[in-house]
Amino acid sequence: MSGVVYLVGAGPGDPGLLTVRAQQLLATCDAIAADALANPEIIEAARADNPGVEVHDVGKRGGSGESARQEAINDLLVQLGRDGKRVVRLKGGDPLVFGRGSEEALALAEAGVQFEIVPGVTAGVAAAAYAGIPVTHRGVATSVTFVTGHEDPAKAETQTDWAALARAGGTIVLYMGVKTLPRIAAALVAGGMSPDTPAAAVQWGTYPRQRTVVGTVTTLADAVEREGLGAPVITVIGTVVGLRDEISWYDRKPLFGKRVVVTRASAQAGSLRAALASLGAEVLELPALRVVPLDPEALREALDRIAEYDWVVFTSQNAVAFLWQSLRVAGRDARWLAGRKIACVGPATSDALLARGLDADVVPGRFVAEGVLEALDERADVKGCRVLYVAAEGARDVLPEGLADRGCTVDVVPVYRTASDGAGSGALRDALSSGRVDAVTFASASAVRGFVEAVGAELARRAPAVSIGPTTSDALRAAGITPASEASESTIDALADATARLVGAPDSQWSTA
Ligand code: SAH
Repeated sequence: MSGVVYLVGAGPGDPGLLTVRAQQLLATCDAIAADALANPEIIEAARADNPGVEVHDVGKRGGSGESARQEAINDLLVQLGRDGKRVVRLKGGDPLVFGRGSEEALALAEAGVQFEIVPGVTAGVAAAAYAGIPVTHRGVATSVTFVTGHEDPAKAETQTDWAALARAGGTIVLYMGVKTLPRIAAALVAGGMSPDTPAAAVQWGTYPRQRTVVGTVTTLADAVEREGLGAPVITVIGTVVGLRDEISWYDRKPLFGKRVVVTRASAQAGSLRAALASLGAEVLELPALRVVPLDPEALREALDRIAEYDWVVFTSQNAVAFLWQSLRVAGRDARWLAGRKIACVGPATSDALLARGLDADVVPGRFVAEGVLEALDERADVKGCRVLYVAAEGARDVLPEGLADRGCTVDVVPVYRTASDGAGSGALRDALSSGRVDAVTFASASAVRGFVEAVGAELARRAPAVSIGPTTSDALRAAGITPASEASESTIDALADATARLVGAPDSQWSTA
């Protein structure tokens, strides 16, 4: 059986701009052959969704010449197709816009290998849009030309008629043209374009590190050089650039241009990362903590005797997940807890319970162990009860001691521990020591420990710390770090908000003031 090669556009960078079709194929294919310009985050996500997928990095530059490299890629695609694989050939932007996707399609057609083409969002449109520049606008630009800057106008063999483009009067979107920009600008002006025509260069469009430089067709090249913008850059030339003053939006987000560190355990970092990214931040992730399961025997025994308990208490989603695992391994489900009352520490834990068919009886307003005790004090059915506390190793004693004070018998059953994960901390140490980190977020006391272990006590104090709540703030102080800000309530959104208030631009579009 012959395979299929999908020539897929990955979009310009922001993983949210991937098409639904691309995402489905990435999640189900046998192999991915990725370009240098496809965002590595997209490939990481595909590996997570599709474990075992074979990834060929064909984006490496240098070495053999460009055409030899393209030929090797064509051969690889043909080979994978002949091996019967479903292959995603992932290319930055749209595969057929200066992407050589059509050359690959020709090679596949010639070899008789089945292929499909999945268009993507091209950088020339998307980088402009993220810079607040529409490529057409009624009454301003009625046409747009995508043109490659690879063609040096100074060379005799150039195929592009720059004078004709200058006369056409529409928007010009230049790909791959940072180095040739001075000569292209000169050719356009020589061809009759007004030297005052607005122009903008957008580097790393749609990524949080996007940078935009604005000038005129005559001044832009110098400005780009002065600001040190290098590939990948999209250059837009035309009156539409002027609209950016009013409709720029991405670079007005409160955390745009800010680097914020996330220190949560990697399994849970996603929601905080997403909250910070939606505020415009560039997120550096320290997988500070790994969740390590402990011997499940103690929990299994406790579950065998579940009828002896009146209450089951959870202070983390992880504990819920491990309890559920133990139930399932024993062929049980939520019904096994029937008749028990359940208390948990906050909304994330209660959501994890609800997802498994268990609605917590107690979720405190204050998401710390003390809050659980306060909430339990409001009830008449706690005093003298038997309590199963499914916990992390080394959890604070506040809860078991407080329950004991209320005459309860408490069995603390640790089901997991958190361990620091050194991987990736080198890059973070560099960023901290060179002052390129604007804030570090802490969503748990154990994240504080993990961060200090990973980067060392001295570097851990370099950037402002934002804490999710009082317990985490105490842990920071204990580590010699003064919290610069604390979330108004212990939720991921409040933590992201506190970060924006601390380091965000005061005049941002969504000023949080
Ligand atoms: N097929 C791609 C273009 C590949 S050519 C597409 O449709 O977008 C490579 C050029 O694309 C780069 O030199 C740059 O000009 C542009 N480019 C790609 N991604 C970009 C990005 N995120 N920001 C700015 N320019 C980008």
